[in-house]
Amino acid sequence: MENDSRSDGFISTHDFDILRKAFASSVAEGLTDETRRLDHARELVRELTGRENVDEGLISRIVGLPLPSEGMAIVLPTAIEPTLADLKADGQGLMAYCGAPSCGQAWSLDIDVLIELYGTHYGYRNDRRISSKVRCPRCQRVGGTLRVVTDKRPRF
Ligand SMILES: [Zn+2]
Repeated sequence: MENDSRSDGFISTHDFDILRKAFASSVAEGLTDETRRLDHARELVRELTGRENVDEGLISRIVGLPLPSEGMAIVLPTAIEPTLADLKADGQGLMAYCGAPSCGQAWSLDIDVLIELYGTHYGYRNDRRISSKVRCPRCQRVGGTLRVVTDKRPRF
């Protein structure tokens, strides 16, 4: 089962190294946080390969996680999904991070506008809808990652 050739069928060792480096620099620059690492790696693979179905084993290796063991329980949060209204009530905000590894732009999103578009009960934690639509003000790229900021007031 274990394959040491580092060939993943559709991706070469060279491409894998590129992906790992792109991912590592995103992490180093703070462009992706713990909860978004897997998504970020998937986006990088999609960008490079143009494939929608990304092998999870490959993702795990890019992120540097051990492969999930067979039959491991996957615990999904089912009870409380934090909503946009919760964010607003807590005085928190959402930052968007540009999906282009070479850009690195981050900007804050207007919670009131998001609520208008997605509703107060929209659960942002596993969001794909907002993050796939954000447009980078610097490079105009559409799509990025979201991050909760605890205090949305500007600090400078
Ligand atoms: Zn950008």
